[in-house]
Amino acid sequence: MDRRSFIKIGALGTVGMALGGQDAEAKVRKVETPLEVSGYVREPARKIPVVDTADVVVIGGGPAGFAAAVAAAREGADVLLLERQYFLGGLFTGCGVTPIINMYHPAAGGGAGQAVHGIADELCRRLDEVGMISWEGIRPKVDPEAAKYFMEAFCAESGVRILYGVQAGQITRSGDAIESVILEGKSGRVAVRCKFVIDASGDGDVLEWAGEDFTVYKNDIGAMWRIGHADNSGKGNPTPVKGVRTRHTVGEKDQDGLDMYNLTRIQLSLRKKMWEEVAALRAKPGNEDLYLVDTPALVGVRITRVLDSVANVTTEGAATGKAYRDVIAITGGESNLKYNGGKILTKDRRMWQIPYSALIPRHVPNLLVAGRCFGFEKELTYDAREIGTCLATGQAAGVAASLAVAHRQSNREVDIPTLQARLKAQDVRLDF
Ligand SMILES: Cc1cc2nc3c(=O)[nH]c(=O)nc-3n(C[C@H](O)[C@H](O)[C@H](O)COP(=O)(O)OP(=O)(O)OC[C@H]3O[C@@H](n4cnc5c(N)ncnc54)[C@H](O)[C@@H]3O)c2cc1C
Repeated sequence: MDRRSFIKIGALGTVGMALGGQDAEAKVRKVETPLEVSGYVREPARKIPVVDTADVVVIGGGPAGFAAAVAAAREGADVLLLERQYFLGGLFTGCGVTPIINMYHPAAGGGAGQAVHGIADELCRRLDEVGMISWEGIRPKVDPEAAKYFMEAFCAESGVRILYGVQAGQITRSGDAIESVILEGKSGRVAVRCKFVIDASGDGDVLEWAGEDFTVYKNDIGAMWRIGHADNSGKGNPTPVKGVRTRHTVGEKDQDGLDMYNLTRIQLSLRKKMWEEVAALRAKPGNEDLYLVDTPALVGVRITRVLDSVANVTTEGAATGKAYRDVIAITGGESNLKYNGGKILTKDRRMWQIPYSALIPRHVPNLLVAGRCFGFEKELTYDAREIGTCLATGQAAGVAASLAVAHRQSNREVDIPTLQARLKAQDVRLDF
């Protein structure tokens, strides 16, 4: 056994013991500790001040967390949205990802047209009013700065309280339930008491702290970024802003998105590549005025922890357009899907349904998961994490959480017909 393997087992054993018992240890054994640990320090026990209380705490203000927070607040819940950056949108606005995929479905065979309505649709309409969305093709392309602004406006209008600059880092429990979320920011380490939590961190951070069941996937880590005065460059795709085009760097294959050293290395390397590419483009005649608009604030992690939910969406379910009794979202499918030993091409794909049970973790009664970390089979990685799909699972999680709080129910006790009725009242469509 080498030192690294020995250290891994040591570290996992410690976490398992902290959670208490063999069962907990079995759950965390799936997690690869990516870091080389060279010993431990002991943090002194201390009291953590409770600075806020909310019905629903949403962790992460990406597309999923934004939609979850707004949906829950519109149903009457007192919502606190925690975001470590100082803007909303996550990878959508912070990694230059302008095309909203899966909101519309391409395939004539599987019901072409709009798949995701609700908050996604409202946001696009608001962007349309100010000319900050383009409708070429089936992927609406938005200006990230305008999206940040309108996402904040939606929060303000629905009464969501945003807290920026805070990294949620742990939970405390009362029995199996989450009692508070501990966060760190410029005011120090503080706690927020809550009745319900939505993990919209993208990376399923709460799953780790809660000892929930999950699987870690690796994927390409890259970036989307913007160049200006770029219409003559022949590079990238147009955006709603004249002369500004997006570039897509797929990035490095099969990367661990939970290793902070790896993430730093990749971000440094991506930024260097962007500057080098811009320098090469500017060297071409006619492109002297081309410039780099921005390098992304966030490193482009596509997938990490994915919930092992009460019932993950299966590849078969998505491939066949399976109808679920507890459907809470319909989404498009814009990628070629490996299925049954073959491949279903995008043009032959069907829209697919997401059941409520795919958002429910197996153990914690007051937690739901939305966005790129809800429960789905690995083959669906490209579909399940697109922005259209994240907005849809977020909206559903928000409505479900508000119902659970209002009726003092656990995540599993939420009444499905009521949930579906409230989603429809928020203009979500649940049939093809
Ligand atoms: C390079 C790249 C290109 C892509 N291209 C497209 C595309 O063209 N079209 C498309 O539809 N999708 C695309 N995607 C996918 C899409 O952008 C993401 O999957 C989607 O944004 C995920 O939304 P989310 O809300 O689940 O998570 P995220 O967007 O990751 O948002 C999570 C948010 O939570 C915050 N957060 C995380 N942990 C904590 C914590 N502990 N405390 C406080 N805050 C926290 C983060 O800061 C972030 O704001 C692309 C992704 C990448 C990386």
